[in-house]
Amino acid sequence: MSFETAINIVESSLSDPSNDYDECLIDFYGGEPFLNFPLMKKICEYVWSKKWIKSYLFFATTNGTLIHGEIRDWLLTNKEKFHVALSIDGNKEMQDINRSKSFSKIDLHFFKETWEDLEVKMTISKETLPSLAEGVIYLHSFGFKIRNNLAYGIDWFEPENIQILSQELNKMIDYYLEHPEVKPCSLMDLKIEDRGYSEKKWCRVGTHMVVFDVDGKNYPCHGFLPTSIGKEKAENSRTFNFNLNENLLDLKCKDCLLYNFCPTCYASNYKESNSIANRNLQHCNFNKARALACSFLQAKKILVSEQSSIVNKEDYSKIESIIQIQNQITVQHFKEIFLEPIFQLSELEIVKLANIKSNGAETESLSLT
Ligand code: SF4
Repeated sequence: MSFETAINIVESSLSDPSNDYDECLIDFYGGEPFLNFPLMKKICEYVWSKKWIKSYLFFATTNGTLIHGEIRDWLLTNKEKFHVALSIDGNKEMQDINRSKSFSKIDLHFFKETWEDLEVKMTISKETLPSLAEGVIYLHSFGFKIRNNLAYGIDWFEPENIQILSQELNKMIDYYLEHPEVKPCSLMDLKIEDRGYSEKKWCRVGTHMVVFDVDGKNYPCHGFLPTSIGKEKAENSRTFNFNLNENLLDLKCKDCLLYNFCPTCYASNYKESNSIANRNLQHCNFNKARALACSFLQAKKILVSEQSSIVNKEDYSKIESIIQIQNQITVQHFKEIFLEPIFQLSELEIVKLANIKSNGAETESLSLT
């Protein structure tokens, strides 16, 4: 992208009072955006030198390999105005498998010390799946928040992969129960209280996000760029109305309790099936195992809190989801994969949870009267 194209976009985004937002996150997107550091620097310094109507923050996701010398110093100087996320896929072994032996080129301590709230993006591949828990625990040791992504290439119809995933989720449950102060990685942090099927949109595509290609043309998100989805589909996507959430509903999943927190990518759906709503059922067993593991972890945490009398209001709304997930996602869903139930609470634990909830509801109604 040329400097002029970039500045035209930024000017129209930050100086037009008719835009219906107050603040803007300006995200440089790659490949690796720091490969074109001189252009990024020029754009940022131009924008910082002017006054704008809208507030804004610069942002980039980097693989960290170029963050040394001049770039490192510049980021350190501007760390309040320029935030980053780091793509790192676990410990040294995992990172070297997924990303061409790049671990030794990343200064993890610099990232940890420069941005307090830094989020790392951890991609899980077939090769690194067996070390998933180890990698997550390693990244937590730096205090990073972790967002997990699934790489293409894991066949979730393959029972072996679901078995390996479940073993790893089990290890993570043990870790999070031993370390309640650690915020679980995104894989283990489902908002299970949002259960059900609604018109909730999964991401910011097309309404709270716009992506500009190198020529300055806009698209609903990165997934709809011509390089991701092909020229013709990318062009079509520019006419889609993402405000109409009914366009995004997948009717084949309408009876699924997990629908609202089952991840979907509208661009991938469109690429694979010509429909933005049509989910790929390949991830179904993966999502079910994950929801069960999350309900199990959250139940155990609530039961521990109850012993120390610190169950809070949010826990009451989770309990109903936990019980429903535990009752509905059973070994039947995994009959070719597991012989025995996985992440299943005992009957006694379910009864205890139900009691905690009904005692909580009573206390609430008493305090209302
Ligand atoms: S893909 Fe599976 S888990 Fe996700 S909403 Fe559909 S039926 Fe539920």
